[in-house]
This record gives sequence, C-alpha cells and structure tokens, in this order.
Amino acid sequence: MMNACEVSGCKTEVPPALREQQVCVLHFTLSVENSCSSMRRETALGNAPHERQREIMKFIAEHGERLARVATSGLPLTDDLKARILSTFLTLMNLRENLDRSNMRSSFGRTSQLLR
Ligand SMILES: [Zn+2]
Repeated sequence: MMNACEVSGCKTEVPPALREQQVCVLHFTLSVENSCSSMRRETALGNAPHERQREIMKFIAEHGERLARVATSGLPLTDDLKARILSTFLTLMNLRENLDRSNMRSSFGRTSQLLR
C-alpha cells in the first residue's frame, strides 16, 4: 500500500525516514520552516524561559537529524527539493544561532524594556 502524505491535496509518497511524521519531503521542510519562524519570534526578545529554550534546541537537533537522514537516504530528489532541504538546514542553524545570541544578551542583563 502506498503511504501518501497526509497534507490534504498532496498525494506524494512518504519516504521511510518520515513515516513517523506521515508527510512528504516538501511538506516536512515547510512545516519545519513554519515552526522555526514562530520559534524565532518567540525567542527574539531573549526572554523565553529556559525550559522552552531547551525544547527549541531539542527541536532543532531532532529535525536537523531527521532532515539529514532523508537527504542522505538515497531517495531520488529533484534539484528544487535539494535546494529546499539546504535552505531548511540554514533556517535551523540560524535559529540555533539566534537562540545563543539572545541568551548571551539576556545574561548581560540587556533584555530590554525597549521591545516590550
Ligand atoms: Zn506532501
């Protein structure tokens, strides 16, 4: 039985590395991008609780690993999809960098009243 992506209207097959998520490569990258942009907003002010920051770091590591697995599993990927995978990696790396940077800021006591 073919395992189709669960996003409505998308009939692309789910690769083995994404069985758990039940989405195709394209929709996996799109959902990661979406989560990253909301987490980025959440952490931009440097006042996300530590608990939440740990969750976000875990998200970044887990999704980065999964994406690497998909990308290197021998699945036939179009050039467009390869480019999308790379840009999703970049998004994950930038989010991680942002998180570290905003942590640094808040530990210097500069969480600002300006932004509130
Ligand atoms: Zn899909």
